[in-house]
Amino acid sequence: MTSVDFIVIGSGIAGLTAARELSHGGETLLISKGALGEGATQVAQGGIAAAMRKDDSPTFHYADTIRAGAGLCDPEAVRILVEEGPLRVRELIELGAIFDRVDGELDFTREAAHGQRRILHVGDATGREIGRTLGTVLQSEGKVKLLSHAMVVDLMMDNGRCVGCWVLQDGEILGYQASAVILATGGCGQIFRYNTNPKGATGDGIALAYRAGAALQDMEFIQFHPTTFAKPGGTPDSRFLITEAVRGEGAVLRNDEGQRFMSRYHPDAELAPRDVVARSIFQEMQRTGAGQVWLDMREIPLDLAARFPTIYAKCKAEGLDIGKDLIPVAPAAHYMMGGVKTDVCGQTSIPGLYAGGEVACLGVHGANRLASNSLLDGLVYGYRIASALLRNAQMKLHPPRNVPFVPFANSAFSTNAELRLALQDAMWEWAGISRSGEGLARLVAQLSDWQVLCEPRGADPESCETQNMLQVGLLMAQAALARTESRGSHYREDFPLRDDEHWSRHQVIVRVFSVPSTGS
Ligand SMILES: Cc1cc2nc3c(=O)[nH]c(=O)nc-3n(C[C@H](O)[C@H](O)[C@H](O)COP(=O)(O)OP(=O)(O)OC[C@H]3O[C@@H](n4cnc5c(N)ncnc54)[C@H](O)[C@@H]3O)c2cc1C
Repeated sequence: MTSVDFIVIGSGIAGLTAARELSHGGETLLISKGALGEGATQVAQGGIAAAMRKDDSPTFHYADTIRAGAGLCDPEAVRILVEEGPLRVRELIELGAIFDRVDGELDFTREAAHGQRRILHVGDATGREIGRTLGTVLQSEGKVKLLSHAMVVDLMMDNGRCVGCWVLQDGEILGYQASAVILATGGCGQIFRYNTNPKGATGDGIALAYRAGAALQDMEFIQFHPTTFAKPGGTPDSRFLITEAVRGEGAVLRNDEGQRFMSRYHPDAELAPRDVVARSIFQEMQRTGAGQVWLDMREIPLDLAARFPTIYAKCKAEGLDIGKDLIPVAPAAHYMMGGVKTDVCGQTSIPGLYAGGEVACLGVHGANRLASNSLLDGLVYGYRIASALLRNAQMKLHPPRNVPFVPFANSAFSTNAELRLALQDAMWEWAGISRSGEGLARLVAQLSDWQVLCEPRGADPESCETQNMLQVGLLMAQAALARTESRGSHYREDFPLRDDEHWSRHQVIVRVFSVPSTGS
């Protein structure tokens, strides 16, 4: 059994930031199930929001974030985000991140529901540059032990405390112990048929934490991105994100009849909050019977190949020129606002267990995340978890030994792929952009049946992931069924209005452990 001071699970922006800071104060192990840095951070396009322009201020950024969160943001968590954000971004620049500049000055773009131009960017591949910077520094400092292509399959618990994790590595389950375990495993977009997320975004961290008994919060709130490439007849795999920044620079949306429609739904038209744009597109698609609407970038007064090189190249590969052609787009699941409940130092409800980045829920994003706030969240809170842990001398306790590994249930479906596809279809159908009590109740029943069917089986990474996806899907469906109102990204056809009287509150879910009978 290997033992270190700190284990960080996940090497996106939150995990890289936390691991680097922790390594200054203790032996740190960074585990990721893919290659180092592989994850949503790597594919983030539009940018990172920070109030750094002279005529911007954290107060404005705070107000925009709170407004987008539809009554469910935690004011203290947002205050910390917007106030500490500029400092963390400056440090990132000092570490070597090269953001776009005009005449030597940082260039800020605008995105939906931001009242100011405050998004720093690197073309349309901002996350790649941030990941490259943090990964390079971490490797050159050489203080963090790296364990890649290794999947954490469960947390190691001892008397209600998290004391490490179990890792599936080359077909074997190995135990790693630590004084503190930090979950930075990213989101769960893969539980939906149409999504923007990388293949590994299967909600593992949420499922691990839930199984261990940690409290989860806001599980009903998943954000649907309005614009993913949606070629008529294309497969879910052919979808890719088209950043909101294109609308920030002037792109407009047209329905299948060629008409602009957004101003009918919201005074800010194409720059309305994400949930509004996604739902409006969905309604236009339903009204016209088309499988997509169209993004028109022809009037953007920029060199599109230079400003949006990734999107330009991807569309070109599909035979479309973004400067001349209309681009087919449709919404897809994108970002999990809910997750493992933490305080503003990343502490979960379980001693020894911390969470940061997309897997965590501390109320920064409320019911609807403001664009480009999630990279900032990972950066600010990844750093805060580490500095709080290093301040806490008690964390140097020696963890206990000899904790047995209890295998968890795997799918009893004939093939893992079959269950995964069925789950993704069911989630999209019944827990997607527009939900109803009837559909959600059917979904809960269906997912519960699939769970009952589960039985222990040999460990392989894909069936572990599918098992996690099923768990997260069920929790999301239950939370969405219970919330009988519409708010932020959660829209109920049967309860289309926001109900502040009853629902200005979070839903917290904790697993109930059955008490073994003592018999007689
Ligand atoms: C296409 C796309 C574009 C986006 N654009 C933007 C943007 O412009 N601006 C913005 O702010 N946000 C954007 N986002 C959201 C943002 O990228 C993510 O929310 C953020 O990067 C999450 O960072 P993270 O560190 O929490 O997780 P990730 O970067 O997703 O990293 C998760 C890590 O956990 C590891 N992991 C997961 N499960 C396990 C396990 N069981 N065992 C071991 N390791 C595990 C993975 O291998 C990975 O290393 C975008 C997201 C997508 C998908």
